[in-house]
Amino acid sequence: MNSELGELYQEILLDHNRHPRNFAAMAGASHRVEADNPLCGDRLQLYVKLEADRIADISFQGTGCAISIASASMLTERLKGAPLQEAETMFETVHDLLTREPPPDVAADLGELAALAGVRRYPMRVKCATLSWHALKAVLGEDTSPAVVTTESDRGRP
Ligand code: ZN
Repeated sequence: MNSELGELYQEILLDHNRHPRNFAAMAGASHRVEADNPLCGDRLQLYVKLEADRIADISFQGTGCAISIASASMLTERLKGAPLQEAETMFETVHDLLTREPPPDVAADLGELAALAGVRRYPMRVKCATLSWHALKAVLGEDTSPAVVTTESDRGRP
């Protein structure tokens, strides 16, 4: 990654951390997931309102490092109103992004989420970036609510 791109990525992350999007509790959420990353001290609550097979509304609250907050902020911004299928695909795409360079066509679809690529250089922080995504995955994968997600029960998957 050239340094200009690195700086741009950092700007995006800092902006989402300073002004997190959709940062609020949600009344009438169909799902509320607690996400906990004890290694860093990130604690987020993800609120999702599912309607038919799309995410009608999504928001989050909590405390955490800049990477966990920025990632959650970008997640909600990207997937508000999205079909569940797109959320599934985006989970996989972001997960891949944090472990290796994605193919160009995939990278082009990421938008601001591409900024998370910079986290790849800091393996200790990958769980911060994926925390909210695992909370989302819990919503997609099951109907029970509330659920608790912790990075330390994740069988080693970052
Ligand atoms: Zn963190």
